[in-house]
Amino acid sequence: MKIYKTVRGLQNHLNTLKKQGKSIGFIPTMGALHDGHLSLVRSAQKKCDITVVSIFVNPTQFDDKKDLDKYPRVLEDDAQKLKSINTTVLFAPQVNQVYPKDAKPFKAIDLKGLDLVLEGEFRPGHFDGVVQVVKRLLDIVNPDKLFMGQKDFQQFTIIQHMIKHFKLKIKLVVVPIMREPNGLAMSSRNRRLSKKQREEVKIIFETLKKVKEKHSEKTAQQLQKMAMSALSKNYKPEYFKIIDGKTLLGVDDLKKHKYVVAVTAVWAHGVRLIDNMIIKK
Ligand code: AMP
Repeated sequence: MKIYKTVRGLQNHLNTLKKQGKSIGFIPTMGALHDGHLSLVRSAQKKCDITVVSIFVNPTQFDDKKDLDKYPRVLEDDAQKLKSINTTVLFAPQVNQVYPKDAKPFKAIDLKGLDLVLEGEFRPGHFDGVVQVVKRLLDIVNPDKLFMGQKDFQQFTIIQHMIKHFKLKIKLVVVPIMREPNGLAMSSRNRRLSKKQREEVKIIFETLKKVKEKHSEKTAQQLQKMAMSALSKNYKPEYFKIIDGKTLLGVDDLKKHKYVVAVTAVWAHGVRLIDNMIIKK
């Protein structure tokens, strides 16, 4: 595995590979890698010749400076994991490589309200930061395919919108959520939970499952109420919504929508966890 810390080094290497006709799959991450991230790499390996993983904790998407400071950074461990599954290239830049001082300022695009609901309501400006970094990384890597996780449902929906907006010739591949054996969605933030706490927060997955089981018998409002009350027993759910998978807007009557998803964000033991489940598609 090659490791690059500069844009120039990375691009020189990728240009050589592109000239040989190799297809490139790109997986942007913020590091503290777990099996969820590795499943994106594995998916990319099936579809592309070359896998490029970036590890960059992007300051522009954190609305909370404390959250940015607390974000786990374990580059050596991450590099080991990527190497062990035969990742081709790791790109681990410093902030000045991604945002050079002389670069044109980023002009936020119209996200048609996709950024204002759910996560956007609680993390103002977050998705402008996400779009900014993903666009910049795509400009640097120029991949054929981009791999993102279903775990961040709103994020991949917005990036799909951005790809369309800029008419990029990049295919977005969405990879299913990897979970712990107890159902907890894998997340870099889970590191901040004890073993016991990780066991207890499986309630998030169980609640999503219950909502899916009951979806044909109840209205969205009833399902949301049931979920919020189950989660509120021990945690602080920020939201639990039943949404249309395309527009991200809340639904009333599930029968009127083809693609329905339950999405949630929950504070548990000082850690903000997000999860979702496709109810029907
Ligand atoms: P992050 O490092 O949290 O920015 O995540 C990088 C990528 O990995 C994003 O596309 C996430 O959606 C994806 N990802 C994170 N957790 C999981 C998971 N449990 N299963 C699948 N993909 C995931």
